[in-house]
Amino acid sequence: MIPVTKPFLPPEEEYLSLLRGVWERNWLTNNGPLVNELELALKEYLGLSHLLFLGNGTIALQLAIKALQLDGEVITTPFSYVATTSSLVWEGCSPVFADIDPETLNISPAAIEACITSKTQAILATHCYGNPCDVEAIRQIADKHGLKVIYDAAHCFGTTYKGESIFKWGDISTVSFHATKLFHTVEGGAVMSNSPELIRRMSRLRNFGHDGPEQFDGVGVNGKNSEFHAAMGLAVLPHMEEVARRRKEQALIYDEYLGKLNLGKPAALPGAEPNAAYYPLVFPSEEVLLSVVDELNRAKVFPRRYFFPSLNQLPYIEQQPACPVAESVSRRVLCLPVYHSLTREEQRMVTRLILRAWRYLKK
Ligand SMILES: *Cc1c(COP(=O)(O)O)cnc(C)c1O
Repeated sequence: MIPVTKPFLPPEEEYLSLLRGVWERNWLTNNGPLVNELELALKEYLGLSHLLFLGNGTIALQLAIKALQLDGEVITTPFSYVATTSSLVWEGCSPVFADIDPETLNISPAAIEACITSKTQAILATHCYGNPCDVEAIRQIADKHGLKVIYDAAHCFGTTYKGESIFKWGDISTVSFHATKLFHTVEGGAVMSNSPELIRRMSRLRNFGHDGPEQFDGVGVNGKNSEFHAAMGLAVLPHMEEVARRRKEQALIYDEYLGKLNLGKPAALPGAEPNAAYYPLVFPSEEVLLSVVDELNRAKVFPRRYFFPSLNQLPYIEQQPACPVAESVSRRVLCLPVYHSLTREEQRMVTRLILRAWRYLKK
């Protein structure tokens, strides 16, 4: 069986040796030494001044929305994982969908401008598939209209723009360290910001609003993560150069075998170096996609329809102007299997099946 992804696991002994310290200290959670060590290691690895390790990437989005005190209209992308939209709704905001750019598949700056009203408070954009949004154009629009910017950078571990981590962009960037993501801590996530004040606020929000053992500064939630999750992160991090390199090689292998089909692939922003965390292909029609999926499934290969449906069509979203590009792409896009232990032979087999389905369709 070849699934769309498999988590990377470090050598068992490297994880267990970190757990032995947990047993010695008997300190399992609540801002423990491994959580602190992981936060420091990640800041150093990514070149960031601030980062808070959290329970998951969804609570990261929720804390970001809360810290910026958003409660009205937020312009967002229809092409992302559902958590981008559901976090806004969960926090009492109204998502307003701006269509995506057909080349990059990220939110279109022109479409953002067209959605701005007197009620707009912020922009929540996803760097889809680890491919940066047009961050400079978005910053210009936000500055011009006095809007906050949050980036859902869940896919972006290791992605750079002009040589620096993409996590530096926006008032706040969020990331997921879920087991299916490029870098993971089993469950986990983080918020990053250049603003010490926002970081202080989110650090209280993640710990029930505590501002001292018996003191509270507003309402908070439990957004913390544990020593066991931090230990996994600390065990995975030293392998990230290798994990990232392998992922980029795998993308080139698919490119080589499937290039002649001339399928659509998201274009990278000039100056960006995406992390190849996913391998999306845009088919000419949903019909073609479904026959490719069928052919793959019969051989026990399970790609995923990331991201379908388009989020403006979620059942709890009020009727809004259509997003024709996102709606069309989401019906036709498929992510092929990519994970650390996937071999060249397995990739070859996946591409043979796709080519076979393709030839069959042409007849
Ligand atoms: C994975 C993901 C999330 C949610 O992260 P969790 O850690 O699973 O809560 C949010 N946004 C996007 C774009 C994601 O892919």
